[in-house]
Amino acid sequence: MNTKKGTLLVVSGPAGSGKGTVNKVLLENTEKYVFSVSATTRSPRPGEVEGIHYFFMTREKFMSLVEEDNFLEHAEYVDNCYGTLRPFVEENLAQGKNVILDIEVQGALQVREKMPEALLVFLCPPNYATLERRLRGRGTETEEVIQERLKTALTELQIAAQYDYLVVNEDNKAEECAAKIDGIIDTRPEKNKEYILDFIKNFTE
Ligand code: 5GP
Repeated sequence: MNTKKGTLLVVSGPAGSGKGTVNKVLLENTEKYVFSVSATTRSPRPGEVEGIHYFFMTREKFMSLVEEDNFLEHAEYVDNCYGTLRPFVEENLAQGKNVILDIEVQGALQVREKMPEALLVFLCPPNYATLERRLRGRGTETEEVIQERLKTALTELQIAAQYDYLVVNEDNKAEECAAKIDGIIDTRPEKNKEYILDFIKNFTE
């Protein structure tokens, strides 16, 4: 049997974009989507499970995987290393599954280089005020951390110009966003670079 290769779907977005929730909705369709569990050197947060959220490891172990060319991409983000395990991705794509990568922008651009057929989606809150409100709403971070996240988000947003699609996540619209991304996978609508550039320009206004 000749199985059609799956799509490599990169979903990036700043903290507060809601990408975790959107991915969760997509992954409910277990026939169609599979999540690529990344390796990381950061410590597990409460509730995070080894092999489900991440493969947690030391920096030494991570670097040995780099040397053995085990990563499709890897990047450093806020003092920790993160990487996508290549064998898992390749096997699942070959089996016809669409593989979801929840990765930051530097890694996404590496994926673009190595696998130009990958689909890059940037998920974003509708505007800066909403982003700020969501980050503050968590109530767990200091003002300094919030300011840092906001700054990072603006830098990341600039890189969204290089993505294929930008999907805006209004409040409580994870289901709609997931449906939109699912539609993109199925129909590959025409890309609209101008829309993305305009969105970036207007984001802080
Ligand atoms: P967190 O530590 O909050 O789970 O993730 C921090 C950032 O790292 C998020 O933007 C997440 O998308 C990104 N990330 C998670 N796994 C990977 C990975 O394998 N590669 C890259 N480049 N980024 C990742």
